[in-house]
Amino acid sequence: MQTVMNQMRIFSNIALRCGPNHTFTHHLRRTLCSSQDTKQDMRDPFRDRSRVITPEQSIQYLKSTAFKETYAHHKVWQLFRRNFKGQYSPYKSRSTCIIDDYVYTSNPCPICRDQYLVLHYTNMDLLNHFINPHSGYVYENTILCLCAKQYEQLLVAITLAKDCGLLTFEVPLRTYDYHEYYKHLDHNHHNHHNHNHHHIASH
Ligand SMILES: [Zn+2]
Repeated sequence: MQTVMNQMRIFSNIALRCGPNHTFTHHLRRTLCSSQDTKQDMRDPFRDRSRVITPEQSIQYLKSTAFKETYAHHKVWQLFRRNFKGQYSPYKSRSTCIIDDYVYTSNPCPICRDQYLVLHYTNMDLLNHFINPHSGYVYENTILCLCAKQYEQLLVAITLAKDCGLLTFEVPLRTYDYHEYYKHLDHNHHNHHNHNHHHIASH
């Protein structure tokens, strides 16, 4: 702020000396507008993301009537459409929608546009929006259209939820022939095959 005041004084002195119609007044305005303080004031409050929303607040929001009125029976990503030039959608999504705690794009992704949607492994109501109920897999990002940063956060949250036992999933069924790994079982192979198999499997 001190430097801005100094610049203002210098420019106003020059402007007075050179007359009111001089281009230095234009210079002065441009210098002031590019300073950090003025930039903060010019920010759109609806795009500001400096407020930290905790996962607990997000969980409460997903149970509220405000959430139901906003999204009704849709998934949070269903009504979102990407803006793109030409006939085909781009292969990759943008890297992020938020730079310096501010939504810089006019069409942010479904997660970035609603600041109360926080991807966290305890926020299962939200994570279930992104999981295909028929297969149990996460939808591809070509369908979800999240920005790359939020899609990574989504995959991390779902992995953590699986680790903590909050999300059930099926593992593929595999059958093992334990005699390939435990050679000493071959001696008793013919006599106690069933017994040994059970013994190893229980460990
Ligand atoms: Zn985003």
